[in-house]
Amino acid sequence: MRIEKRLLILDDDELICKTIADVAKKDGFTVRYTTDYLTFQNLLDNWLPNNIIIDLNMPTMDGVQILNALADKGNQSKIVICSGVSERIIEAAARSAKARGLNIIGILPKPFYVKQIRDVLHEPLHNDNKHALKNVLQQQQAYDVNAIKNKLMHAIEHNIITFAVQPIIKCRTHQIKGFEVLARWQDDELGFISPDVFIKIAENHNLIDALTLLIFKQALTWFSELMQHCTLLSKEHKNKLTLSLNISACSLQQNHMVSELANLCVELNISPSQVILELTETAAMEDPILSMDLLTRLRLKGFRLSIDDFGTGFSSMLQLVRLPFSELKIDRSFTMTALDAEESKIVINATIELAHRLGLKVTAEGIEDEATLALLKRMNADNAQGYFIARPMAADQVTAWIEQNTQASEEKRIAILKAYELLDSPEEERFDRITRLAARLFNVPISVFSLIDTNRQWFKSRKGTDLKETPRSVAFCDHTIREQHTFIVPDAQQDERFKGNILVTGSPHIRFYAGYPVTVSEGESLGTLCIIDNKPREFSAKDSALLKSLAELVTIELQESANSHADPITGLMDRKSFEKRAMLLNELCRKEGLTYLMLYFDLNGFNDINQQYGRLTGEEVLQEFANDLKSTFRESDLIARLGLDEFIVVMISNHDIDVEQLIQRLRDTIGFKKHNSAKLPAIAFSYGSAISNAAKPMSLQQLYHKADVMMHINSESKANRLLTPD
Ligand code: C2E
Ligand code: MG
Ligand code: MG
Repeated sequence: MRIEKRLLILDDDELICKTIADVAKKDGFTVRYTTDYLTFQNLLDNWLPNNIIIDLNMPTMDGVQILNALADKGNQSKIVICSGVSERIIEAAARSAKARGLNIIGILPKPFYVKQIRDVLHEPLHNDNKHALKNVLQQQQAYDVNAIKNKLMHAIEHNIITFAVQPIIKCRTHQIKGFEVLARWQDDELGFISPDVFIKIAENHNLIDALTLLIFKQALTWFSELMQHCTLLSKEHKNKLTLSLNISACSLQQNHMVSELANLCVELNISPSQVILELTETAAMEDPILSMDLLTRLRLKGFRLSIDDFGTGFSSMLQLVRLPFSELKIDRSFTMTALDAEESKIVINATIELAHRLGLKVTAEGIEDEATLALLKRMNADNAQGYFIARPMAADQVTAWIEQNTQASEEKRIAILKAYELLDSPEEERFDRITRLAARLFNVPISVFSLIDTNRQWFKSRKGTDLKETPRSVAFCDHTIREQHTFIVPDAQQDERFKGNILVTGSPHIRFYAGYPVTVSEGESLGTLCIIDNKPREFSAKDSALLKSLAELVTIELQESANSHADPITGLMDRKSFEKRAMLLNELCRKEGLTYLMLYFDLNGFNDINQQYGRLTGEEVLQEFANDLKSTFRESDLIARLGLDEFIVVMISNHDIDVEQLIQRLRDTIGFKKHNSAKLPAIAFSYGSAISNAAKPMSLQQLYHKADVMMHINSESKANRLLTPD
């Protein structure tokens, strides 16, 4: 098939236009030229050139704006940029135009001679396949715009236009977040036609409403079937799935479109909160006042709104943020260059930060490889879409994709879990501390750090139950790891999912359950930190926040290597690992308004013991004291040896702590033991305490200082010194 080569030239200098036209005609081009932008636009839409030469310096509109306008229309003609400005500037313009998806085949710095025109026009088709393909299409379509319009009309009437869906996942957990619907047109003669092309034609010829409605109907029908019949996803997960629909600004301005959409949702039993309407940045800004009205109405009906292709338009941030959007999509021109171009990273970072501050979720589109996904995750993007995750697919392939995706991510999760080497490992103080703390703070009998293995849940740390593992099929925690928030069952006996569960009907007789996923940096939830009670219970938002903070402590412990920071003599934590955890707990207490007690101990006359009895005995004394601390403060959170004969204990509580009583307990422990075996020399200690609470929060530094001051005050008084009986 011979393709007609149509060249459109825009240059304010008519002589230049003519010169280029003459050369091009000789080379077999059909040429139209103009010195005025409006005519240029008109020819662009109706004559459909497949080659364009644009002068960067036009008197009324600058060339960059023109290029952007072309990019916004998804124009795929071969474009040559010409200009009298410095080559560097033309090159910059060409680069940015390419980044926006335009097919720039060359630049023509003025003045130029005839051969240069020829060379640049005969540049081989861009070797990028995508461009090549679209180019051919563009060229095919160049035959007759009327014919295409008629074909399109026919295609809409006969449901030949269909849709593809592209999955969107959550960056953090890789869970399926939803799908975007993309219009598809496969014509018998013309083959695949890009929506960038036919949407534009539909818009220009008043066909867009019919097309939009057709897609909406098809896609919503499919979605409602997925919601009803897909058994691969939990009900809770399905209820949160979203369906993103692209909508043209022109359709939005039709009042009936909003009500048709709302009616469809009612008819198909889809909650509008699951439907996201994607509107391009430029479209949203065409008439901000009108948009404001329409968009607000949509929001009032419960639909969600997303700014599509963010960063490609020129809207002022301020105007944009005043519109009631709930989500923002970073344009793929940034995502696709994020790994290499510093500017793209800056734009993405700033956009995410801004969006989050405004309470908008961010989806990055155009993710084509793993490294970009990892980068966007680090940059805090919420959701990801792109070929790396999945290409747009026919609706009937989605179930298979979900199955494959679920299976693949489960395999990955298990592989990571295995790599942590936690399954069937011995109990560890560092996790027990957290489960004990959770049980104490929530005042529940049971708290567990559970790991979800292929077919079982296995308890790495458990407080209040003898169970070591259960089948996965009955695990409450298996529900929790699918969530990104607290999973709460206020009363298991009233819950259809759990009332027949053997853990509810039999031991440990779960009535109340609250769990938070323990998610590692790879994004996988390996297990949960959960609390369990034998009676029903309410769980407030504040409680949820506390459980989350505690689960994060578990995550931090997980990322630490197990025993690297233990003090070799006593087995207690050393200073470094103490401080790290003490700091985290201090933050947690200040955030949650809890009481934080620091007890600082110093052994009296330890140097004398060392000298008199020798180093080995000295070490034994330290070990004894460490054991005394451990058995006295079993329920406490941190016990560490800070220096030679300095020890520290940190305790967290949601009520006041009686320091005197605690110290008395320690004295009793020491006294009782000494009574039984008195072969070691006497130990005496001094102590100082400091408390941070909601009324008077203190930093770790302030607590250290206060405890030290208190120790010196205490040691003045004999009453606070204990000399064990000889
Ligand atoms: P969009 O809404 O920004 O859709 C995303 C486009 O990016 C889709 O192109 C999709 O196939 C493509 N894409 C997704 N992942 C990747 C990736 O990793 N790399 C690259 N290079 N591309 C990726 P598609 O399907 O050609 O659609 C183009 C545009 O046409 C859409 O951009 C949207 O603006 C418009 N469109 C599509 N369907 C409809 C529709 O039903 N109504 C309206 N009004 N516009 C639509
Ligand atoms: Mg879109
Ligand atoms: Mg987009």
